[in-house]
Amino acid sequence: MFCPKCRYEYKAGVHKCPDCGIPLVTVLPPKDKDKPESEYVELVTVMTTGNLAELAVAKSILEAVGIKYFAKTETLRQLFAAGLVELQVGRGDEDEARELLENMEESGSGFPDEENPDNGDR
Ligand SMILES: [Zn+2]
Repeated sequence: MFCPKCRYEYKAGVHKCPDCGIPLVTVLPPKDKDKPESEYVELVTVMTTGNLAELAVAKSILEAVGIKYFAKTETLRQLFAAGLVELQVGRGDEDEARELLENMEESGSGFPDEENPDNGDR
């Protein structure tokens, strides 16, 4: 038997840690070493587009459901003349984001591709 708090081992028959006053467990829970979620979020690219209107729609969709997103724009715009933008979300939100973005493309976003994108570069 182990105390989950101070991790001290007690012999069988002891059910409560005399120091912590909490019930003992038979197996110690693993230390939360491999859960650095709050410190580091792995980012996954769920969308790459050069269409800023499409990107704006995608962003608003993610915002609406409260998914935190990151758009890699500045550096990429310097690397690619086309101005491709990568939209990234945390690993945990990947599935939901992908689904939402797929639906967005299927239903048509109201931004027809034929129309010239605004020349906002100048
Ligand atoms: Zn204890």
